Amino acid sequence: MGIRHWLGDNFLTTRVDQVVAWARKFSLFPYPFVTACCGMEYMAVSAAHYDLDRFGAAFPRFTPRQADLLMVVGTISHKMAPILKRVYEQMTEPKWVMAFGVCTCTGGFYDNYATVQGIDTIIPVDIYVPGCPPRPEAVIRGIMMLQEKITKMRQEY
Ligand code: SF4
Repeated sequence: MGIRHWLGDNFLTTRVDQVVAWARKFSLFPYPFVTACCGMEYMAVSAAHYDLDRFGAAFPRFTPRQADLLMVVGTISHKMAPILKRVYEQMTEPKWVMAFGVCTCTGGFYDNYATVQGIDTIIPVDIYVPGCPPRPEAVIRGIMMLQEKITKMRQEY
C-alpha cells in the first residue's frame, strides 16, 4: 500500500494551508484608524494588562502598507469616508477590517446627515464589535473570532 493511500492526494496542500493560516492568525498587524472616544478603549486594550501579544496582535503599524488588520475606531463622518477608503485600498492582501464600537458598526446614536451609518457602506467589514465603547474583553473576543475566520478561509500565497 502506497503512502498516497494513507495521506491522500491533497495532504501537502492542506498542511501548507494550515501552517499559513496559523502564521497569519498569530501575526496580525493592526492599523488603528482612530477618530473619536472609542480611542480610549483602544488604548486600554493595547496596554500591557490585556496582553495582546497572546494573540500576536500587539504591534500596531502606522502605515497601511505594513498592516493587515484595519481597526476602525470611532465615528466616521462623510468627510472622512474617502480617507478611510483610501487607507483600506493601500493595504496589501490578505487584509481584514474590524468595526470597533457601535458608531463604526451602524453610526450609533449619530443618526444624522454628517455621519456614515456603518463603515460597511464604504469598505468590507470582517468583524463587528458593538458597544459604546466596547470593553477590552469584547475587542479580544472580536480578535479571536477573526482568528477563527482566518483559519477557515482559503489561503492564497
Ligand atoms: S461608540 Fe460610543 S465611545 Fe465609541 S466613538 Fe461612538 S460614541 Fe464614542
